[in-house]
Amino acid sequence: KLELPEDVKFIISKIEENGHSAYAVGGCVRDTLLDKEPQDWDITTSALPTQVKSFFRRTIDTGIEHGTVTVMIDKNGYEVTTYRIDGEYKDGRHPESVEFSVLLTDDLSRRDFTINAMAYNDSEGLVDEYGGIADLNNKLIRCVGVAHDRFTEDALRMMRAIRFSAQLGFDIENETMAAIYDLAPTIKKISMERVHVELGKTLLSDNPEKCLLYSKTGLFKEILPYIDEALTNKHTRKTLEAMKHFPEDYDKDLLLRMRYAILFSSLGSEAATKTLKTLKMDNVTIKLVGAILDASEKEIQETEPAVREALRRLGRDLFFLTLDYKKALSLAASELTGISNPVKISHYDNLKKMATYIISRGDCFSIKELDISGNDLLEFGLSGKDIGKTLEYLLDLCIENPRLNEKSTLLSMIPRD
Ligand code: ATP
Ligand code: MG
Repeated sequence: KLELPEDVKFIISKIEENGHSAYAVGGCVRDTLLDKEPQDWDITTSALPTQVKSFFRRTIDTGIEHGTVTVMIDKNGYEVTTYRIDGEYKDGRHPESVEFSVLLTDDLSRRDFTINAMAYNDSEGLVDEYGGIADLNNKLIRCVGVAHDRFTEDALRMMRAIRFSAQLGFDIENETMAAIYDLAPTIKKISMERVHVELGKTLLSDNPEKCLLYSKTGLFKEILPYIDEALTNKHTRKTLEAMKHFPEDYDKDLLLRMRYAILFSSLGSEAATKTLKTLKMDNVTIKLVGAILDASEKEIQETEPAVREALRRLGRDLFFLTLDYKKALSLAASELTGISNPVKISHYDNLKKMATYIISRGDCFSIKELDISGNDLLEFGLSGKDIGKTLEYLLDLCIENPRLNEKSTLLSMIPRD
């Protein structure tokens, strides 16, 4: 017996009271069986969308033509979808038509993988017509039905197979895997937005090294050649290993950006920027990944002036992120070679400590923190370009010796020529 949330029980019994069947289905059943918290709860039913709408007070027409209505309970929404039979897929992406059915079994047969094709309600218990439980126990991703046919219908499923294998730490069953190798070039039919989502979920998973399958199977060969290259060169193992070495307190957005930076570590910022644009990534990500890759090319010495200089060049946030990035790569390298290189790894910790100290002491490392302004220099008698140049010069002095950052001292140090 599975534990359904109260809202889901309520929705299912309300539909049953009206003479229809309804089940929790797909990812939520899979995750509950795995003792994981489901992302969301989907419900499948014999009731038609108009009927579902009449059973509940608040509903949203999410995708009526595909049979989906969102039922609102308090602030939570639940997608309720009529049992569906998908028509023929002609473009490798979408069914030509969808037909509603009154049989749960029809709905389960259109789903991608056995572990995603189970349904549950309290009256019927678990419905598992394709051996989903067995595959969960054996940790296998296996297509419902003939893999080759299922991937021909919808090429995105090939990426989904790899993504689930990364999220769950499962293997891909042989026939399913063989079909991916076979049909990999057809991934071209899928929009970059959807590729982006699956790749992102793979990178964010506990097993980001499964990304390797995107190149091994040939999926990325044509659509994302730089990532393909990054996953097949001599740095690949280090790259995949390094993705796991980021601080626990990173939020998801940041972790994804840092893992992308690592993915491109062997290629550099130009290839990264091009690829992230192809993937239609947001500008913040594109900029940050490029900046980290560029910043990481320069080593920073363990001296206070060098750290202040780096803080000046990069700004605080980029400074710390670049160190996290480099540390992750060194940790991976030392793990793989078996040669622990404590000097190198502690180097990044030392730099962080020094920077934290420098910042807390209030040392100046940008022009706006100088104890003197452009206006002061104007009054002093400078003009035009000389003002900017002089501020830079004074900042250079303060980077070397932060005690000089005091207005009268700075004024006394302006060169007169
Ligand atoms: P997640 O935790 O990422 O939400 P999920 O299994 O819920 O995982 P969804 O993309 O939300 O995945 O889809 C919900 C369900 O719909 C899946 O479990 C699967 O049964 C079915 N499904 C989704 N996309 C496809 C597809 N492209 N082909 C076949 N079935 C699919
Ligand atoms: Mg889901």
